[in-house]
Amino acid sequence: MSDSDKLITLLKQKAKLVAMIAPSFPIMYDPKTIVSKLKSIGFTYVVEVAVGAKETNRQAVSILKNNPHTRFITSPCSSFVRYMRTKHPDLLHYVAFEVDSPMVATAGIVKKKWPEHQPVFIGPCLLKKLESSQDRPDLNILVLTYRELDQVFSHFSNESNKTYETYSSFDLSESSTRIYPIDGGLTDSSGARNLLKEDEIRVVSGVKNMEAALTEFEQNKKIRLLDVLFCEGGCIMGPGIASNLKIQERKDKITAYAHS
Ligand code: SF4
Repeated sequence: MSDSDKLITLLKQKAKLVAMIAPSFPIMYDPKTIVSKLKSIGFTYVVEVAVGAKETNRQAVSILKNNPHTRFITSPCSSFVRYMRTKHPDLLHYVAFEVDSPMVATAGIVKKKWPEHQPVFIGPCLLKKLESSQDRPDLNILVLTYRELDQVFSHFSNESNKTYETYSSFDLSESSTRIYPIDGGLTDSSGARNLLKEDEIRVVSGVKNMEAALTEFEQNKKIRLLDVLFCEGGCIMGPGIASNLKIQERKDKITAYAHS
């Protein structure tokens, strides 16, 4: 059964569900109506994954603060983590696995607040499905891409032709980390730039750029933070997004919402 079908079944069974929507969502959906739209098909609560990203930042910055000589590579990108496990087991000790990804951190917050509800992550990433099922099965997160969510919306709009309220706010929201899906989002929103000098930070995105960045990280011991995302440009270019927008147009949508 596809994950869209799983979600349709759960919604029809009136299961208690919390939608956790990734910070790249404004590329595909109107921030003013997405909460109403999700609640109209049966979600009880709708939260921004930017909430968990704030916790990711807190954990990452606390490593830097508490260990003045530590150097590490960020871990929120599921594809990058898998790439490292396969291609660079020798460098795995640099990957900060102790820092929760925004999806995992948000699910932890949701589980604490609404223990009877199942978290449903909706985002741009296919590999988050493996992060959920292989790395954190205890959290029982159902993972859908935006493309799959569109199939769910189509299913319910065929049935009921619902209209959506013009505005409804998130049950949990966070503006400081809404830039997370743009490459360097973690570094720029966490305060790491206030803690470290420019030559102690590297930001890289795109699989073709990663090898050079890893080699530099290995050789240049000055670098304390390597902030990596597998998709070139960051999660805004994730495969689960259905959009014809160019990279700059996607960035503009994210920054406009972050500053709204
Ligand atoms: S950069 Fe791409 S692969 Fe990595 S978490 Fe974002 S969408 Fe997934």
